[in-house]
Amino acid sequence: MNKLSGVATEVASVKLLIGGAFVESTSTQWRDVVNPATQDVLARVPFATANEVDAAVASAKEAFRTWRKTPIGVRARIFLKYQQLIREHMGELASILTAEQGKTLPDAEGDVFRGLEVVEHAAGIGNLQLGELANNVAGGVDTYTLLQPLGVCAGITPFNFPAMIPLWMFPMAIATGNTFVLKPSEQDPMVTMRLVELALEAGIPKGVLNVVHGGEEVVNAICDHPDIKAVSFVGSTKVGTHVYHRASQAGKRVQCMMGAKNHAVVLPDANREQTLNALAGAAFGAAGQRCMAASTAVLVGEARSWIPELVAKAKTLRVNAGSESGTDVGPLISRAARERVEGYIASGVQQGAILELDGRSPNVPGYESGNFVGPTIFSGVKPGMRIYDEEIFGPVLVILGADSLDEAIELINANPNGNGTALFTQSGAAARRFQEDIDVGQVGINVPIPVPVPLFSFTGSRASKLGDLGPYGKQVVLFYTQTKTVTQRWFDDDTLHVGVNTTISL
Ligand code: NAD
Repeated sequence: MNKLSGVATEVASVKLLIGGAFVESTSTQWRDVVNPATQDVLARVPFATANEVDAAVASAKEAFRTWRKTPIGVRARIFLKYQQLIREHMGELASILTAEQGKTLPDAEGDVFRGLEVVEHAAGIGNLQLGELANNVAGGVDTYTLLQPLGVCAGITPFNFPAMIPLWMFPMAIATGNTFVLKPSEQDPMVTMRLVELALEAGIPKGVLNVVHGGEEVVNAICDHPDIKAVSFVGSTKVGTHVYHRASQAGKRVQCMMGAKNHAVVLPDANREQTLNALAGAAFGAAGQRCMAASTAVLVGEARSWIPELVAKAKTLRVNAGSESGTDVGPLISRAARERVEGYIASGVQQGAILELDGRSPNVPGYESGNFVGPTIFSGVKPGMRIYDEEIFGPVLVILGADSLDEAIELINANPNGNGTALFTQSGAAARRFQEDIDVGQVGINVPIPVPVPLFSFTGSRASKLGDLGPYGKQVVLFYTQTKTVTQRWFDDDTLHVGVNTTISL
């Protein structure tokens, strides 16, 4: 639920970025940005008006006229400078992120770092945006391709990675010659705005990057706007599906990376200690608010007996504010998120799953009003239970059993989501079968959260993704560009007698 209130005066307001200037919104609708560990109001963020969205798009459209012709080297050097600025401000960025989002400071640095890797990749755009050429496709004829920018592109991002995911989008869109309108999550826009300030400091010209804030109405305006050519979305399946259909209907390219229910399969031959550590970290890190969290464990055969050890490991994790050193599990993003997760735990009990570890209402001295839920583990979980069928997006691990790897693969492929999965084993043959037969975008072999580095692209299968090209990496160069194929002949040879030809040949 959005907390709407009157225009703010006492706390800082989050600005819009239009035409190179950070401007105060004229909106009458604002929302508090709240520290999830303390409930302190950190800032207020506007829900931009329709005119402000139009102004941001118009500024991006105008800037595209010159930006599209800016030499590759000039574009690349901005991102070289940008990556340096992000490194220099890492500590500041992480502390803003932790204050508004809740994750631990080291994890916040990881959030910034995984975005920084995309910025580094954008600095190599000269090697990435190359066309192809075929010589002599017919007598005296060559064919080549140009990868040209599309125009104004837009990005809509979720709350859980407020540094990494905006950095998945605008650096590569801009490096390929497009201009951009970003709509960050209204729940934690402050670190995104600091990153945007640094991008301007690195040299991104006026109007090339614009930011509007808001929720449903602003997102719908982006989907409908005739001057926006492509939309990148990351967030829930419900909203992403809406964005995909609405923006596609308006003739745009759309890529939507969406919800998840990631299964980690444990075979009995897996390295026990490493696997249990990996499971606990991947299920409860970031309070389970990762689209790649290992939220579901499938213990095969004898591995079913590992549950008490897993519970013991989970009990050692420290629940506290993300700003406190030694914290393993920070708060959930909002009170509403905490209530939702507690509701799922209640439903698991009610539907007959075994509550091995109950993380509800943990004692967090000094942060009594924080949105905390501690590590929670259910065993005896089955399809049909809400805790299995739905994405909980909290520190809740649900455990199922399987008699064989085949049974585990069948279970995963029957789940609607296909974002990430992992197999823990020491058998190469089992690992190979898993990677061949599993219908999931990101596959880890003894790697619990297999998010690809930007030499590759993030992907997803089935309900976790709509659109055929992924964010960042090679695929996004194709997403943010239009391939133009040029076939050319130069008549420098009088012996070539082409004449009138009414057939299809060259
Ligand atoms: P969300 O879908 O609620 O919000 C995402 C964006 O959509 C935000 O910018 C928000 O303002 C906007 N939005 C919210 N409601 C809207 C509506 N009714 N109409 C139009 N726009 C709307 O997602 P969230 O809660 O911020 O993020 C968590 C979700 O994102 C989880 O489902 C998680 O799995 C998913 N996620 C997926 C990936 C991935 O790469 N697959 C990565 C991160 C997060």
